[in-house]
Amino acid sequence: MAIDLTDRYFAPEFMRGGMARWKLDRDAWPVRAIVLHHAAGWYGPPLGPDASHREEEERVHSLARDHHARFGIGPGYHYVAFPSGRLYAAGKAGTHRAHTKGRNPETGRYWNVEAIGVCALGDYERSGRDDPTPGLRDAIEEAVEEIRGFRFTLPNTPVFGHGATPTVDASGDSAPQATSCPGRRLTPLLATVNRPAPPDVSAELAAIRAAAEAIERKLRAA
Ligand SMILES: [Zn+2]
Repeated sequence: MAIDLTDRYFAPEFMRGGMARWKLDRDAWPVRAIVLHHAAGWYGPPLGPDASHREEEERVHSLARDHHARFGIGPGYHYVAFPSGRLYAAGKAGTHRAHTKGRNPETGRYWNVEAIGVCALGDYERSGRDDPTPGLRDAIEEAVEEIRGFRFTLPNTPVFGHGATPTVDASGDSAPQATSCPGRRLTPLLATVNRPAPPDVSAELAAIRAAAEAIERKLRAA
């Protein structure tokens, strides 16, 4: 379970123009994608696997203040994952936020409305900088699992790396994201989280077991 900070940021001081402006009816606007980002360290010194809960909450808070000032909503992401393995839910799933510009080619609607934004704290692009810790991977996987479990998330919802998110502009023309976000060190994780779930073969297995038991009974009776 993510550490839930969503009530703290579902507040007028983090939502320019009022809270109602940012709310969404997810029955009308289901979640169609998850977009993975990184925060390349503009919000303070890097936080490692040993960072405290308090340091991480403070980091989420500086991100929230900065995004509110720049984009009108803070934080711009719905989830923030840390190298410690802690995952914070910062924005309610029923709000649109500010993490991915442009529109979904399939619907023509804004990604910020149709996608849930997950941010990995750290710089996963520049050489010699952070490598994703096992904790960070777990936290991202936890976010993906939680989001896919929402009743308003469409089945087989993909996870895109921000820079590789298929995007069009208002006229439907391709409008690439032009960013290396979430960084080449995080990109391999996308293959893992997008691997299809194994098929459910429990009914077939049960039938095979029942048949085997029937054969054994027959042999015993012979
Ligand atoms: Zn990004």
